[in-house]
Amino acid sequence: MTSPLAPPDRLLLGPGPSPVAPSVLDALGKPVIGHLDPEFIRIMDETSEQLRAVFRTSNPLTFPVSGTGSAGMETALVNVLEPGDVIVIGVNGVFGGRMADAAARAGAVVTTVEARWGDIVDPVQLGNAATAANAKVVALVHAETSTGVRSPVDQVRNAIGPDPLLLVDSVTGLAGIPLEVDGWGIDVCFSGTQKCLSVPPGLAPITFSPRAANVVAERKTSVQSWYLDVSMLRKYWEEGQGARAYHHTAPISMVYGLWEGLRLVMEEGLETRWARHQDAGDFLQDALTELGFQMFARKGYQLPQLTSVRLPADVPDSLRGNLLHEFGIEIGGGLGEGAGKVWRIGLMGHGATRHNAERLIESLRALL
Ligand code: PLP
Repeated sequence: MTSPLAPPDRLLLGPGPSPVAPSVLDALGKPVIGHLDPEFIRIMDETSEQLRAVFRTSNPLTFPVSGTGSAGMETALVNVLEPGDVIVIGVNGVFGGRMADAAARAGAVVTTVEARWGDIVDPVQLGNAATAANAKVVALVHAETSTGVRSPVDQVRNAIGPDPLLLVDSVTGLAGIPLEVDGWGIDVCFSGTQKCLSVPPGLAPITFSPRAANVVAERKTSVQSWYLDVSMLRKYWEEGQGARAYHHTAPISMVYGLWEGLRLVMEEGLETRWARHQDAGDFLQDALTELGFQMFARKGYQLPQLTSVRLPADVPDSLRGNLLHEFGIEIGGGLGEGAGKVWRIGLMGHGATRHNAERLIESLRALL
């Protein structure tokens, strides 16, 4: 324990974390100031403002939850759900299943609409289930990181009608593929910093529509989680500088990192960034198909930022270890049903380039 910390140099092409942009790493090393310092509050306000732009929303209640994407998921669910409330959840992979688990723990009555892994949850089926159950909330995953599927979230509001709250996990979607929180009628949307934002794991951007914020304000029972109770947090985020009060110590350095990550998104332009992800993903998927890999996700619904492929019979899962140790490249194995049979390759955020796809393909060719 006497020499300084020296993690190895890796090219992160797994399902997250993604490569962190150098200027974000610089921002993380800036001097720490107090979380109630007016200068830090200004940085927080700018962070929220930039998050609104990236989520494509005007929701006042938009902020980064202190915690990883899963903290965003809990915050979303435990605030809008009270014991006995009905929620319909689309499940086509690991992360939909996790939402069902978390919602049940919050005391909700959970109905799941299941789809085969690799396929989408049909918005019409979600709508039928929501009507049949008189659901208060409908939830689904925008970008299923376990399968590489992009859900047609833009069609869900139309299918479920105006009443249920629409809650979306966009941990892997935000800043990588189109997401229109206001345009698609989403009420609660959460994300994570370590995917297409290219910031280390540690914060979970979240946004609540005024209607959802109102549902939280009118709860009859208190939120089971003290730390994630938005009615306490919103005092900090919504009520202006004068009202800022201590709830918990904001993770200062992570907010710096997110601020810079968001600045990079805005500098590049959101549409340009979506197009860059699409281009890199298409390039990789064509090259992998040529090598004999089969896409796991249904055609037409493949995420560009997370490619999920079935391994050809002569390619062992253990090759991932060779990629890491011989070439310094990390890719992910399959989760759940895909374990041992599937690889998950991320081209996210700063890492979403043809150059990185080429590096991976060349290394794979050398190993095969
Ligand atoms: N939801 C999705 C779609 C994810 O991909 C992840 C993480 O990979 C999570 C939720 C949980 O995020 P975290 O691991 O940052 O807690």
